[in-house]
Amino acid sequence: MNPYLLLGKYSFGMGDRFGHQGRAQLRACELALELGAEFTPVWNKSNREHSFIGTEPSSLRAEADAAVSALGWKGAYHVDADHIRLETVDRFIAPSDFFTIDVADSIGKPARAEDGKAFADRHPELAGQVAISGIDLPLQISRAEVERVANKFLLAVQDAGTIYRHIAASKGAANFITEVSMDETDSPQTPPELLIILAALADEQIPLQTIAPKFTGRFNKGVDYVGDIRQFEQEFNDDLAVIAFAIQKYGLPPSLKLSVHSGSDKFSIYEPMRKALKKTGAGVHIKTAGTTWLEELIGLAEAGGDGLEIAKEIYAYAIERVDEFCAPYASVIDIDKSQLPSASEVNGWSSAQFTGALRHDQKNPAFNPSFRQLLHVSFKVAAKKGDRYLNALRKHEAIIARNVTENLFERHMKPLWLGA
Ligand SMILES: [Zn+2]
Repeated sequence: MNPYLLLGKYSFGMGDRFGHQGRAQLRACELALELGAEFTPVWNKSNREHSFIGTEPSSLRAEADAAVSALGWKGAYHVDADHIRLETVDRFIAPSDFFTIDVADSIGKPARAEDGKAFADRHPELAGQVAISGIDLPLQISRAEVERVANKFLLAVQDAGTIYRHIAASKGAANFITEVSMDETDSPQTPPELLIILAALADEQIPLQTIAPKFTGRFNKGVDYVGDIRQFEQEFNDDLAVIAFAIQKYGLPPSLKLSVHSGSDKFSIYEPMRKALKKTGAGVHIKTAGTTWLEELIGLAEAGGDGLEIAKEIYAYAIERVDEFCAPYASVIDIDKSQLPSASEVNGWSSAQFTGALRHDQKNPAFNPSFRQLLHVSFKVAAKKGDRYLNALRKHEAIIARNVTENLFERHMKPLWLGA
């Protein structure tokens, strides 16, 4: 028996804040499969999202199971306890079979001095010239650099080990997939740092299948990548080479792959990613969360009448509290306030004006990325509306579902698999 639950080569993380779009999301995986693209669906929801919406992790498992049985999905699927830590993991253990262990908070906090030195002693192969197939020039890493990077990341890696063993002790190691995420931190991890981190995670005997580094550039919520695309492409290719090397060298699971967080809507990097994956044969996990919530709003607006009205109310509430709403997301949104229409202006909008501003269609001159980002972080407003919002989702289910499926399939899966 495998000592861990095996994750498929291409997997797609889907968030569903209000728990109504599981079938529409899974339908996108069905359409992809018809084209020969096997994306394993993974439903993800973080502790933070559960707290804001007032849901329990078991509700995500129930939603996933219901969607799979409604559609008769025969493939694997998983439920991801997203961005958990030791203090939040327990209520996720039973219903989840994928755990994203978030250790970003421990990055930069020093481990014991002797641990950094012991790590460098244990890994003489990391110091000097490290030739890695797929990277043109050998990496040059000094012994001092190995110690510096070890000191920066060892505590985070040790935390990951503690959390992994805590989950394994109660769930059984064979029954889940382990991801380690380091994306929610200030500076990106370079490929040499990734190599050192992977060596350390292997030392902790974590059967890591996905790793989420922080990449170069801005991964803003629900909008395109902002940054140097060529630099991203280089880094992504180097990271793939480092991972293939670490699998061989440190005995990490052969299924180990990159996980791209805030991966939804990063249209301009999908093509370099697709090329790199095709060239190397590597797999990838794309994690998306809020893009489905925005499709709910688009569907409601498109429905007109009371649907459009509730979408406008949500915007009116959000624009009044724009600073309060945006503050917690400062590092993952870039809103130009001068581009935000007033509540009264939006109140006069038709369905087409609202959906045109919100839908992520970069060719549409009405598309407004500031409007979209503000609504992205405003899902708490919908949560406050309680049953009124949920009833609107039920009433307009068909039109919303069509938008949810089309968004994931046409704008995400197809470009990642077939190219734009
Ligand atoms: Zn993340």
